[in-house]
Amino acid sequence: MHFEQVFAGIDREHLRLAMYSSTAAQVERALQRPTGDVQALMALLSPAAQPYIEQMAQQAAHLTQQRFGHNISLFIPLYLSNLCANECDYCGFKLSNKIKRKTLNLQEINDEIQVIKARKFDSILLVSGEHETKVGIDYFCQVLPLVKQYFSHVAMEVQPLASEEYIKLIKLGLDGVMLYQETYQTMTYAQHHTRGKKQDFYYRLNSPDRLGETGIDKIGLGVLLGLDDWRLDALLMGYHLHHLENRYWRSKFSISLPRLRPCTGGIQPKSAINDLGLVQLICAFRLFSEQLEISLSTRESEDLRNNLLPLGITHMSAGSSTQPGGYATPANELNQFEISDERSVEDISVMLSSKGYQPIFKDWESGWRPG
Ligand code: SF4
Repeated sequence: MHFEQVFAGIDREHLRLAMYSSTAAQVERALQRPTGDVQALMALLSPAAQPYIEQMAQQAAHLTQQRFGHNISLFIPLYLSNLCANECDYCGFKLSNKIKRKTLNLQEINDEIQVIKARKFDSILLVSGEHETKVGIDYFCQVLPLVKQYFSHVAMEVQPLASEEYIKLIKLGLDGVMLYQETYQTMTYAQHHTRGKKQDFYYRLNSPDRLGETGIDKIGLGVLLGLDDWRLDALLMGYHLHHLENRYWRSKFSISLPRLRPCTGGIQPKSAINDLGLVQLICAFRLFSEQLEISLSTRESEDLRNNLLPLGITHMSAGSSTQPGGYATPANELNQFEISDERSVEDISVMLSSKGYQPIFKDWESGWRPG
């Protein structure tokens, strides 16, 4: 059963009302037994949990330390292409944006890799816009073998693919796929995605199931906080995570919590989430899933990234460029979104060490692969 079927049985309006009418007693009960219980997650994400954030933070910090120690894994995104056939009104790469388009060839990718390797990274996230014909499976099949020569852990954040395409890429060394639903609220999804294949909400929604069936090492979920009611979107992502964790035991799961930020020709958030809201969200998910990896991107400010660390964060990007070719030949015109934390990887490593954390560049070696 794919998540689409579970999703069809969720009355989202009922869920929203139930969450907003959560009581202090429900929050206190949730704090006693939060793990793997979507009802508890609902209470912890609700406004009623706000007075309990200190307690949530303490429990979350304890669980994170118990499960992950004082370690933060560092990764870097490599933008392969800003070509995109979709129209997502919040994104600088959308089709209608008159920006310079670029898809890296193998030589250019190699140039990027050399700069990245000089910074010691061993975990990479390949990112592209969604353009099936020019940046599709054939292109990925050429890119993967090159990238895999240099990195132990290779993840991708690209368009959703068919099962057989995922299997092909896993055989070439793919370890993880990040695929963000952006919002689980179908009307809002339709308003913000007005052209291209991304309009198919359910194909995207079922992609993590297709990935889980392959036995891939890591699957990442995410919502773009601010597109719609962030509490409800986070809760629905919790339902999605719960479904996947219960079905696909061979995979690890991660979430990413990007907040809507300005981009070229972009939009303003409908439901802005403040820093305290982000703290609540991170803590609620850590209490819900002890083994969940939670990553924090360079969209967030230096101060906030430093302060959120102990609550549940396990992965951070560092020294990121969001433009194709941006490491070997920095320019400023092809960015997907603006970066807040512009520190180099050395600066991030020093900050982590000063707070008693070990920056981890490699914690994975590909060995057995599902056939
Ligand atoms: S969010 Fe992704 S699919 Fe949408 S316009 Fe940007 S790059 Fe394209």
